[in-house]
Amino acid sequence: MSYYRYFPLWKTLLEGSGAEVVLSRRTGKSLLENGVRHCVDDICVPVKLYYGHVLDLKDRVDSLFVSRVVSVEKADCDTYTCPKLIGLPDMIKSSLEGLPPMIEFVVDIQNMSLKTSAKKLAKDLGARAGTARKILSRSLDVQARYEAELLRGLTPEQAMEKVFEGGNGEHEGAAVGERNVNIALVGHEYLIHDPFISHNLPRKLKSLGANPILMSEVPQEVLEKELCRYPEISWSYEKELLGAASYFLGRDDIDGVMLIIGFACGPDSIIGEIINREVRTPLSPPLTTLVLDEHTGEAGVATRIEAFVDLIRHARERQ
Ligand code: SF4
Repeated sequence: MSYYRYFPLWKTLLEGSGAEVVLSRRTGKSLLENGVRHCVDDICVPVKLYYGHVLDLKDRVDSLFVSRVVSVEKADCDTYTCPKLIGLPDMIKSSLEGLPPMIEFVVDIQNMSLKTSAKKLAKDLGARAGTARKILSRSLDVQARYEAELLRGLTPEQAMEKVFEGGNGEHEGAAVGERNVNIALVGHEYLIHDPFISHNLPRKLKSLGANPILMSEVPQEVLEKELCRYPEISWSYEKELLGAASYFLGRDDIDGVMLIIGFACGPDSIIGEIINREVRTPLSPPLTTLVLDEHTGEAGVATRIEAFVDLIRHARERQ
């Protein structure tokens, strides 16, 4: 659930402390089906996927690294992530049997800096004080470089390749204006960047000659400025969605905005309504909502994307 946000930090920290990092396999049909079988029915698809990934790993590792993401920003008022993200380690502990021991990483930036959480992890892994300090500074540096690459418009995969493998992270057409249709994608990274569940959405847009613009390109200060115009929202990830949608819907060089939400996600459904009713204006570029779940077929997603891109092209031809 937070792989696309914090993996560079964790990988550097774990490897620096002497651990070997084993990743679950990429999401696929059987991994998802396994997750669905072990989860309650009415939960969102990202959590079902998470279960699938845990089950994929459980017999292949000595310890399971799990994150408890409580808050991802320092704000004047209390903000939290969704309860499912906060309770994820408890959910899997109470419903899956035969799990290896867990290493829990708490992200609660409102109350504890990322540095403090990382320091605690290095200590739990047995790193000595001097070594822990070095690992910590290297890990935070890698994470900062990763975030800088995301701001440049690289996808998480490209940014990780650049940070870890020294690749150039070349990205096809992420710069606004390079292609004729610029479409902003607003949604959780664990939905948009999982190629299986999003049916390769960013790549599909590129294959249609459209240029996907990612939320991770929007600097934090821009999001905060946009958010001043709306009532206080307590869910931190949804605040990001709202701020990004408001920013993209007000930009002249954005031709369309796609809101990607997971079926059965309570916070997203509310934010989707606020964006539709309060953020969008008659002057905004077209906005469409794509709801994803485990039953969403590839053909359905492809049709929706093609129709949206066609609509934008036709509207522009008529102008
Ligand atoms: S924010 Fe929505 S999609 Fe994400 S974990 Fe919570 S309910 Fe699921």
